[in-house]
Amino acid sequence: MKIALIAHDRKKELMVKLALAYQPILAKHELFATGTTGLKVAEATGLAVHRFKSGPLGGDQQIGAMISEDQLDLVIFLRDPLAAQPHEPDVTALIRLSDVYEIPLATNIGTAEILLRGLAAGFADFREIVHETDQRPLSF
Ligand code: PGA
Repeated sequence: MKIALIAHDRKKELMVKLALAYQPILAKHELFATGTTGLKVAEATGLAVHRFKSGPLGGDQQIGAMISEDQLDLVIFLRDPLAAQPHEPDVTALIRLSDVYEIPLATNIGTAEILLRGLAAGFADFREIVHETDQRPLSF
């Protein structure tokens, strides 16, 4: 599966802790990230991470473009709800596209843990069906 990792500045340490804790699960998948988040995760875990531009410089939009091509299967976006972001429209667009394409999306650490455990248990396997048939799992 292809997983995107994005963390706003005050959530980056949390993202690194998450990636370290779930390193064995993440290691079985293909990782993509915005620039700084990807660098920190790669340095801390040794995992290979495809890094896009930094979020405020277009990284969120690059990840959004992957979602719109059905090229991402799961998004962990540790956003900071207590700080204004210069690229707020991009943040909103990324969340919106995840909903448009029915991509499992976690915006906080609690949901992120459940998603990663669910991924390890095979609960995201429906994404393979989407890839094979190019259909929504519930035929909307
Ligand atoms: P960054 O981008 O990982 O490059 O900091 C994340 C963001 O702020 O959207």
